[in-house]
Amino acid sequence: MVQAAKQNASYKTMHEASIADPIEFWSEQAKLIHWEKPFNQVLDYSNPPFSKWFEGGLTNLCYNAVDRHLAERGEQIALVAVSTETNQEKTYTFQELHTEVNRMAAILKTNGVNKGDRVLIYMPMIAEACFAMLACARIGAIHSVVFGGFASHSLAARIDDAQPKMIISAEAGIRMGKGVPYKPLLDEAIALAEFKPTKVLIVNRGLTPYTSVAERDLDYAAEREKNIAAQVAVEWVDATHPSYILYTSGTTGKPKGVQRDTGGYAVALTASMQHIFCGKPGETMFTTSDIGWVVGHSYIIYAPLLNGMATIMYEGTPLRPDAGIWWSLVEKYKVSVMFSAPTAVRVLKKQDPSFLTKYDLSSLRYLFLAGEPLDEPTANWIHEAINKPVVDNYWQTETGWPILAIQSGIETMPHKFGSPGLPSFGYNIKLLDDATGAELGADAKGVIAIEGPLPPGCMQTIWGDDARYVKTYWESIPGKLIYSTFDWGIKDSDGYFFILGRTDDVINVAGHRLGTREIEESLSSHPNLAEVAVVGIADQLKGQVAIGFAIPKDATQTTTLEAELMKTVDSQLGAVARPARVYIVNALPKTRSGKIVRRALQAVAEGRDPGDISTMEDQAVLMHIKEVIEQKRS
Ligand code: AMP
Repeated sequence: MVQAAKQNASYKTMHEASIADPIEFWSEQAKLIHWEKPFNQVLDYSNPPFSKWFEGGLTNLCYNAVDRHLAERGEQIALVAVSTETNQEKTYTFQELHTEVNRMAAILKTNGVNKGDRVLIYMPMIAEACFAMLACARIGAIHSVVFGGFASHSLAARIDDAQPKMIISAEAGIRMGKGVPYKPLLDEAIALAEFKPTKVLIVNRGLTPYTSVAERDLDYAAEREKNIAAQVAVEWVDATHPSYILYTSGTTGKPKGVQRDTGGYAVALTASMQHIFCGKPGETMFTTSDIGWVVGHSYIIYAPLLNGMATIMYEGTPLRPDAGIWWSLVEKYKVSVMFSAPTAVRVLKKQDPSFLTKYDLSSLRYLFLAGEPLDEPTANWIHEAINKPVVDNYWQTETGWPILAIQSGIETMPHKFGSPGLPSFGYNIKLLDDATGAELGADAKGVIAIEGPLPPGCMQTIWGDDARYVKTYWESIPGKLIYSTFDWGIKDSDGYFFILGRTDDVINVAGHRLGTREIEESLSSHPNLAEVAVVGIADQLKGQVAIGFAIPKDATQTTTLEAELMKTVDSQLGAVARPARVYIVNALPKTRSGKIVRRALQAVAEGRDPGDISTMEDQAVLMHIKEVIEQKRS
């Protein structure tokens, strides 16, 4: 135990130092990346809550992720693109990746995209998506990747907000061997949007036929050919120059564009690879997420490459051709660090466990899981099946890298079941009473908040809306300027945090954050809908699913209403946001002031006692809803 105590001191000392003197701490970490010109100051926090990290320093994400490694590991694999849908597998060395990124950068440049211009990337998990992100970074353009599962209305809202000069897409994705057309959704989105991109670059995978718009649409293969020998100089940008915008759902229907910087992000990700993920240059990381989510940005594309590691991009499900596919990739590419989500593990858990032991997993050091709560049976099952440490970590699109984790690169510390661990370096976490803002002690439930300045790599602002950034994130706790995560949590007497769910109406389906308000707005556009409420309820596989309760305008026309409502969401937001069920009801539970009591709806849909419903105007409504649910079940 003496040793454990001594070891503890080292995480503790480093964390304390990172809070007491962030300037000293991060100036040391900044040495992990290349600076073309040194920064003037480590941190400018003269205008809280806006923090400017490494201002005046010139750097480039693409240079640090690719060019920087050419001398030492140009011939080593940088990218493995595996599709079990098209049965294609292709590797790119750092040199080859460099060549492809230069070609893509030249396509951008010759089509008028320059530093600061936005490029929207709406793509499946193919190598070209990685080239596109890195090419944007190379020329200082700001990418905004939109998850391929989103449909035209979601896409149109993002086009209008980001105003991209160019959109890069593919004609189709593919699922279970069947082409999923992207191009018609994209055309529809552009038609819906007020802002019009000048150019649309399409990677034609030969999966589905599509029509091109003259003057606007470009064919990637032809453009690549034109730029086959292109070399595009790196655009050195200020550390505070935005690298990307990534939209995420909140409590309103309007998604928020999380804006990230360049230098702080590069430093934070590289440091996280050393402190948390323990990946070494020359090794391989396999993150099973999608580039449309923050985990994909940080740990499929940027962090492994910044760290000189190969990364695997995987298109397909964890079950095709069989449930051993991911582990076969671990064996084949000697993966040392794997990163997935609890939902994916729950999917695997339903399969024959022998698939997990069939392959040589000796290269694998850790399996990291994040994005949603990790339940004990899932954690235990996967730990026993692969016999590797399973490491939970907690963070958000806004922070870009883990807020809570075990810093295994610093010392071996005990894991506690149900806890993602302790604050990462630079995160000064407080547990606060949501009503008074008072700081809470051990074992009390409060809102997890972060004292400014946020560490490097966290969001700079909401794209184009500083006021919304301050109001949404920093002014939700009474009497304090402090960042709210909008998660409930508790801290035990050893300082380990436990996450207890969201404080807002945001739900988490299979590790993907969805705003119930967005789904409600989409459902409401159906002509026969008078009122609707959407809540998230517990689900064994996906953690949570969305459930809708809808009051029709014409109660005689409801035979196909549920199916029509699902279709509405599919076509506007995308299948990812489709509720598991929409119950057709004749009333919703409300307070006397007319507010829908979502807590009660959620309890009834989960088959739980709704608790105190004395504030409810008409308590018979809940009985009616219970009956509707039971009828549908039987
Ligand atoms: P997103 O920004 O889509 O990654 O969603 C972030 C949200 O997912 C957080 O605010 C949490 O509610 C939840 N979350 C992420 N990681 C974890 C975790 N390890 N345990 C519990 N909840 C998590």
